[in-house]
Amino acid sequence: MPPMITAQRHSLIVRLLVYIGLTVGTSFLAFLALRYIPNFNPFLIFLPTVTFFAMTGGLIVGVITTIISLLSIALFFFFSSTHPLLSVSVSLFIQACLFFLIGVFISYILHVSRQRDKIIEYQRKVRQLHHVIEALEKNFEGAQKEIKARDQFLAIASHELKTPVTSMLLQVQTAIHNIRNVSLANFSVATLLKMLEDTEQQSKRLSKMVNDLLDLSLITTGKIDLEPEQTDISAIVRTVTQRSLERLSDKKQISLSISKPVIAYFDKLRIEQALINLLSNAIKYGNNKPIFISVKGSQEVAKIVIGDNGIGIPADQQKKIFNRFERAVSPRDYKGLGVGLYITYQIITAHHGKIKVESHVNKGTIFTIELPLKSVKK
Ligand code: ADP
Repeated sequence: MPPMITAQRHSLIVRLLVYIGLTVGTSFLAFLALRYIPNFNPFLIFLPTVTFFAMTGGLIVGVITTIISLLSIALFFFFSSTHPLLSVSVSLFIQACLFFLIGVFISYILHVSRQRDKIIEYQRKVRQLHHVIEALEKNFEGAQKEIKARDQFLAIASHELKTPVTSMLLQVQTAIHNIRNVSLANFSVATLLKMLEDTEQQSKRLSKMVNDLLDLSLITTGKIDLEPEQTDISAIVRTVTQRSLERLSDKKQISLSISKPVIAYFDKLRIEQALINLLSNAIKYGNNKPIFISVKGSQEVAKIVIGDNGIGIPADQQKKIFNRFERAVSPRDYKGLGVGLYITYQIITAHHGKIKVESHVNKGTIFTIELPLKSVKK
């Protein structure tokens, strides 16, 4: 038998025993009172019992108790032929009727108020259930969105990973073919160098994507560990900028403003990774327009700003872009996995820092990072 039904049965038995005990007790009290108190009216002693029973058991229990009480009183009078009330049998009959009506009335009133309490309780429970259902629906919607985003991500990721591999394979195959079959007059070292440089470029892209995926799984499983060391943020920003400048044809595209060294305990490689993500986004989405970077340090925080004059981000997308797989551009126009900003956000918050974005469509985007200088100590 299910435990709930067993518990219900137990509570029913206990209630029945309490009712029987109370009825017997009240009858005994009434019996004593009738015996020793002259002119005592036994109906009075039964009224509280009827009220109690109706309160706890409802209308039917109240009416049954009223009838049982009437029967007990009738029994007392049957045995106690000497009681003065017995002689006034008409008045006794009227009193019995009144007692019955009052008993039924009390039971009914209490029954109605119990029903009202129950309705209020049910309404409260219904409201609670509505809240639970709403929360579940939200969770469900969130989960569905996540699944959809993950599916899209898998499709993009497999495509993005395949493209550089295919291109690298093609370059290598062409190089092998040329070395084997084409005369050296037609195949120069310069051509080979160009092919190798292309392949290097593609393999770097591939390696960045694989690293991003690895970081993504580390962050999602909560296994990303910081290795803080004394670091100069200004120096990191300078190195990252210089590396990016090497890839740009227009060296004046990036302007850098650093006032002084900003030294604190950070995980150097992770901060570098976050800055590379922001700077490569500024280049990717920057429409080849000027990019500005600045580093400022106060007593408490290091403030790094990376801004561009590119395509911008629509206002309704600005919060979402820090989530996994979220992108504010079409994959046809811009390639990417939608994980760079998520990783950046996680790195900055792991350093107890903040990252915020200000952006206007077709005007540009500014990312500002604030890193507390004292929070990540060894
Ligand atoms: P990905 O660049 O691979 O799509 P990110 O996580 O780095 O992934 O960026 C998420 C999205 O944020 C991008 O798809 C893009 O829509 C938007 N975004 C990020 N940086 C910029 C920027 N500097 N200018 C405009 N949009 C940006």
